[in-house]
Amino acid sequence: MNAVRDRRCFHHPPREAVARCPECRRFFCRECAMEHAGRLLCADCIARTSAAGAALRSPPPWGLPLRLLGGLVGLWFLFYVFGRVLLVLPTAFHEGDLAASPMEAFEP
Ligand SMILES: [Zn+2]
Ligand SMILES: [Zn+2]
Repeated sequence: MNAVRDRRCFHHPPREAVARCPECRRFFCRECAMEHAGRLLCADCIARTSAAGAALRSPPPWGLPLRLLGGLVGLWFLFYVFGRVLLVLPTAFHEGDLAASPMEAFEP
């Protein structure tokens, strides 16, 4: 503990260090050292570890709903195109041979 008492804060030289950051091995005062995930880290290391943790979680929480939405839009587009094709087809189907030939067959 004497080693820590002799040290000064990395950011505030006049202040006495109360903690040592286990990440960067520098000494910090009460204000600069913060508890993070059960450890006393300096603000720099907390920012660094939280940024690394955010980068590690590559799929964001809204990734799955977004992909579901994309699938729904894709499905909707598929049905939309199918509907458009069905809308265009009947005029040719009903006025063509398919509807006309049975009527002609009944005529003497
Ligand atoms: Zn640190
Ligand atoms: Zn400090």
